Amino acid sequence: MIRTVDDYDYLFKIILIGDSGVGKSNMLSRYTRKEFNLESKTTIGVEFAQKNIVIDGKTVKAQIWDTAGQERYRAITTAYYRGAVGALLVYDICKESSFQNLDKWLRELRDHADPQIVVMLIGNKTDLKHLRAIKTEDGAKYAQQHKIAFIETSAYDASNIDSAFERILNEIYQITV
Ligand code: GDP
Ligand code: MG
Repeated sequence: MIRTVDDYDYLFKIILIGDSGVGKSNMLSRYTRKEFNLESKTTIGVEFAQKNIVIDGKTVKAQIWDTAGQERYRAITTAYYRGAVGALLVYDICKESSFQNLDKWLRELRDHADPQIVVMLIGNKTDLKHLRAIKTEDGAKYAQQHKIAFIETSAYDASNIDSAFERILNEIYQITV
């Protein structure tokens, strides 16, 4: 069989959700381009970025969607949620309000996304140790209550970024195949 570079066995649409400023766009650029931007503009304008990974010898194309800042105006369209099989729900471990708004984001998912969608909770910005406002155990507890996976990351120093995406892709793969 001849395979072209663009060949893949599975395509998974993953969406990034969570308050503005929590680091969604930088998580995406870190994962797909190994880039981080301290002064990232809220509107980068990218609809999605793609990255292939291999699971069980199969090529999985992750198509990861980022908002162009619409979350700021609560204007995320239904097209954003359509067809998504995974959602990374992100809060900023230094910002209490982004943690308090998680309920709101889960409600958005319940209203707009597929009921089977795999959700993973992410506490981002672990590099800012001195500014931490949400304890790891509180993030873990919230995730447990809602029966979703949990991981803390830093898009700045890249810790756990690959792991977060790989974990959700693996979880989706297991329930898909
Ligand atoms: P978004 O609005 O959720 O897409 O957040 P951005 O990716 O635009 O990030 C908002 C701000 O937080 C920017 O100034 C980023 O440089 C910064 N930021 C994002 N992730 C991290 C992180 O892990 N650590 C630190 N220290 N800053 C971050
Ligand atoms: Mg953004």
